[in-house]
Amino acid sequence: MAQPRIVIIGAGPAGVRCAETFVAAGLRPTIIDEGRRDGGQIYRRQPDNFSRSYPQLYGTEANRAQALHDCFDQLRDKVNYHPQTLAWNISEGRVHLMHQMQQMQQERAPRASALAYDILVLCTGATDRLMPTPGWQYAGTYSLGAAQVALKSQAVSVGRKVVFMGSGPLLYLVASQYSKAGANVAAVLDTSPFRLQWRALPKLLARPGVLFKGLFLLNAIRRAGVDIQRGITPVQIEGTPESGVQGVRYRSADGREHALSCDAVAMGYHLRAETQLADLARCEFVFDEASRQWLPRVDADGRSSVPGVYLAGDGARIRGADAAENAGRLAALAALADLRSTSKSNQAAPVAVEQLAQLHQEQAAMEQFRLGLQQAFPWPAQQAASLPDSAIVCRCEGITAGELREVVHHKGAQEANRAKAFSRVGMGRCQGRYCGHAGAEVIAAAIGCPVADVGRLRTQAPVKPLAFSIVEEPQ
Ligand SMILES: Cc1cc2nc3c(=O)[nH]c(=O)nc-3n(C[C@H](O)[C@H](O)[C@H](O)COP(=O)(O)OP(=O)(O)OC[C@H]3O[C@@H](n4cnc5c(N)ncnc54)[C@H](O)[C@@H]3O)c2cc1C
Repeated sequence: MAQPRIVIIGAGPAGVRCAETFVAAGLRPTIIDEGRRDGGQIYRRQPDNFSRSYPQLYGTEANRAQALHDCFDQLRDKVNYHPQTLAWNISEGRVHLMHQMQQMQQERAPRASALAYDILVLCTGATDRLMPTPGWQYAGTYSLGAAQVALKSQAVSVGRKVVFMGSGPLLYLVASQYSKAGANVAAVLDTSPFRLQWRALPKLLARPGVLFKGLFLLNAIRRAGVDIQRGITPVQIEGTPESGVQGVRYRSADGREHALSCDAVAMGYHLRAETQLADLARCEFVFDEASRQWLPRVDADGRSSVPGVYLAGDGARIRGADAAENAGRLAALAALADLRSTSKSNQAAPVAVEQLAQLHQEQAAMEQFRLGLQQAFPWPAQQAASLPDSAIVCRCEGITAGELREVVHHKGAQEANRAKAFSRVGMGRCQGRYCGHAGAEVIAAAIGCPVADVGRLRTQAPVKPLAFSIVEEPQ
């Protein structure tokens, strides 16, 4: 029988290991990624004309980065690879694509096509999770991820004097990367108090090596003379629309207010899973109490609630790059087992029981560590509740917390999608990817209900903005 049509979205750690597993079983998957090159977020490759070494670029993860890149290079002629291709919709067993996004920059129409699949593996990763702070609309406020991309990809700092504010491992990681690169880090302001980080220690010990690396980074930031404050409350990013960011005001753990001058703020609160394609594929979602976000329902191997659709990596559960590699392998092994059981492929080899047991055991430790991180660096839901009415929640549409509360109280819009329709929070370019979680917290606090009761924003295609002019390929 013909080979099953296998489509993998994402060429990060999860997608690459998933493809490797399919290829080892004699199949030829198609890999779609909107990035210029493989590697995903953590192992992002530098532009062709840059020549920084692996240790310079990836630090302690240099060997893993190189191993993943080498793996992909060896797969290149055994897979159909479409870089710079956005998967913007999924409907009726087909993924809708927009190719060669670089042509858009050259003002030529990008090409559109659709790809039918028997097996779809979504390895779409995560993005920054953001909580509004008054003034975060001023130029010079970046997400941690954006600040990191500027450094990793282009070797530049986002400002002359940068404040790092938020919570989570990425906060310390990016601050240390900036400090190591010689940038001026004004301070690291963590909203999580030290006692929570201490209490999470038993769970974090599930991965002692990673914990040790984290402590090492912390120490490196301290040794560089950077002030680290824990348990802070952000008050205001100071600035004007003309000047951009000029400083930060915050309250320290003892309640006193402080001001710091800077020309850039890098902020973020851990990550949010990139789940829109799973939603368009009609996967069921469940509310994850630990991270206070809706996530696709998956079994231990990455099977979603929709037959033929699998999820792996941070797009399913945010457990980091090593877990993403495992999850990619597991999802492919699950798909191969399902193909065998439905006899769609006689090429799929029986799955080694020991390999599965080993992967499951490792994933259990990674899950324990994930729960530890959520406990140590919680999403500061209370910050949304106390946002002043004048603070902007939705940066794309410029909608304030007051305007959102107005539709909640006066138009009965107590559900996320209804509130979006009335207020336009989540209606702009980002489609709620950056304001959706905070918006739900503002609504929940306004009516005094659990945030899960507010629901989640339904995904609408296109998942990211598309050009008006595209050339449709014949199907
Ligand atoms: C901003 C940011 C910075 C991070 N920095 C670090 C770090 O320094 N160190 C660390 O240990 N961990 C870091 N992490 C976490 C780490 O990147 C992840 O744990 C790991 O990369 C997960 O691998 P993945 O394969 O699941 O996803 P990713 O590596 O994120 O790969 C997902 C891939 O899917 C592609 N994709 C997504 N949606 C679409 C679509 N609709 N169409 C086409 N392609 C699509 C993306 O282009 C991307 O290449 C970071 C995460 C983020 C979000």
